[in-house]
Amino acid sequence: MPQQTEENVSAAVRPGLPHVELTGFEPPLGDDERAVQQAMHQFAREVMRPAGIAIDRLSAEEVVAPDSPYWQFLKTAAASGIEFDATVDGVPPQALARLQAIVVEELGWGDAGLAVSLGAGAFPRLMAARSGNQELVDLCEGRLGCWIGTQPDRGSDGLSLYPAERHAAARQGNKGNLTARVSGGEIVISGQSSAWVSNGPVAQVGLLTIAADYGEGFFDAEGHPRGVEVVVPLDLPGVSRGRPLEKLGKRALPQGEVYFDDVKVPARFALSLGDDYWPGHASTWSSAGVAMGQIMTGLARAAFEYALEYCHERRQGGALLADHQLVQYRLGAIARKLETMRAVSRRATDYTFLSPKKHPYYTAGSKVTCTDLAFEVADEALQLFGGYGLTREYPMEKLFRDARAARIEDGENHLLTMKFGYLTALLHRAGWARP
Ligand SMILES: Cc1cc2nc3c(=O)[nH]c(=O)nc-3n(C[C@H](O)[C@H](O)[C@H](O)COP(=O)(O)OP(=O)(O)OC[C@H]3O[C@@H](n4cnc5c(N)ncnc54)[C@H](O)[C@@H]3O)c2cc1C
Repeated sequence: MPQQTEENVSAAVRPGLPHVELTGFEPPLGDDERAVQQAMHQFAREVMRPAGIAIDRLSAEEVVAPDSPYWQFLKTAAASGIEFDATVDGVPPQALARLQAIVVEELGWGDAGLAVSLGAGAFPRLMAARSGNQELVDLCEGRLGCWIGTQPDRGSDGLSLYPAERHAAARQGNKGNLTARVSGGEIVISGQSSAWVSNGPVAQVGLLTIAADYGEGFFDAEGHPRGVEVVVPLDLPGVSRGRPLEKLGKRALPQGEVYFDDVKVPARFALSLGDDYWPGHASTWSSAGVAMGQIMTGLARAAFEYALEYCHERRQGGALLADHQLVQYRLGAIARKLETMRAVSRRATDYTFLSPKKHPYYTAGSKVTCTDLAFEVADEALQLFGGYGLTREYPMEKLFRDARAARIEDGENHLLTMKFGYLTALLHRAGWARP
C-alpha cells in the first residue's frame, strides 16, 4: 500500500488526464482506424521523415538523379502498399472520409513535400477512377502522376470558374501558354506548364487542366476560356522537361516545367470536355484542396510535438521552459490552432466525400485556414526554440520553409479567400443566409 502523502491524496480528487489519440482530442478511434494510423505513423517516422530531411539538403538536380534517396523513398512507399487515397471495398463514404484524413495527416507529419509528391503521383489515376474511366485507370496504373494546370502567364487565372470573376476592364479571360485543339476525335496539345508542377521533372503521366479550342476559338460568348481535362502519358513524342526548380520549401518535392510540342492523344483520354469542362475542373480541384488541409495538419502537428518536447528539455529562468506560464500559454495557443486545423480539414473532407454537390471555393477556403494556421504554428514553434530554431541541426527551419510554400501552392491564399467570399455572395443571391 503506497504511503498516503498530501500530494497523492489530493491527486485522487483532481481530474485525471483526458483521452487523447495521436491526432489529439477526439473520441477513441475504432480498432481498424487505429491500426491504419499506427502503420502509417511507423512509415512516416521510419521512412518518410529521414528521407525528407536527407532530400531537403540536396540540390534540385540531385533530388531527381538516379541515385537519389527520392527514388528509394518512392520504391519503399510502393512496396509498403502506401496509398494516398483510401479506397476500401464495402467501406461507407463517411468512414472512408475519416480514414483518408487520418492517413494523409500521418503522411504530412512525415514530410509535407513527399506527401504532396505521393498525392500528385496518384492524382491522375484517382481522378480517372472517380470518373469511372477504366481505360484511363489502367493507363495510369503503376505510373507516377502529376497535375498540370498553371503556366508561366496563367497562374491564378486558371482558377476562375466564372466569367464575372475577371476584372471589369478585361474583355476576355486568359488562355495561357499551354493549350489544346480538339477535333476529329483527337486532342493536340502545345505549349508549356509553369515551373511549379509537382513531380513535373519525374512524372510518367499528367492530368492536364488547360484551355481548349473546339473549332470555334478558345473563348465562349462571355469571353470565358473553353477547356479540357485530359490524361496524357508523358513518354509520348513531343513531351520534354525543364530543369528541376530550386526553391525555399518542400524541397523534397521535385517541381519543374513540362513542354508539349504538338502532342497527340485520343479524345477518349479526356476526363471532361466541352460544356463539361468547368464542372469537371471544379470537381477535380475540390479533391486537391482537401488533401492540402490534411497534409498541413500533419506538418503543424510535427512542429507542435517538437516544440512541446523542447520545452521539456530547455531550462531558462531557473526552470524548464514548459514550467513558465507564458510558455504554457504559447503551447496552448499552438495546440488550439492545431485542433482548429484538424476540425476544418476533416469537415472539408466529409463535405467533399458526402455532399451531393461539392464546390472547390469552399474547399479552397478550408485550405487557406489550414495552411495559414500551419504557417503560424510552424513560426511560433520555431520561436520556442530560440536561436536553435534557425539552425539546420534542428527540425524547425525546414518545417517553417515547408509551411510557407503551402500558402501559395494549390492557389494563393488571398486569392482563394476572395473566391470563397465570391461563392458566399453567389449563394446569397440564390437565397442563402438571409436574415
Ligand atoms: C509547392 C507548390 C506546388 C505546386 N504544385 C502545382 C502543381 O502540381 N500543378 C500546377 O499546375 N501548379 C502548381 N503550383 C502552382 C500554384 O498553383 C500557383 O503558384 C498558384 O496558383 C499561384 O499562381 P502564380 O504563382 O502564377 O501567382 P499569380 O497568379 O501571378 O499571383 C501573384 C499575386 O497576384 C495576386 N492575384 C492574382 N490574381 C488576382 C486577382 N484576380 N485579383 C487580385 N489579386 C490577384 C495573387 O493573390 C498573388 O498574391 C504549385 C505551387 C507551389 C508553391
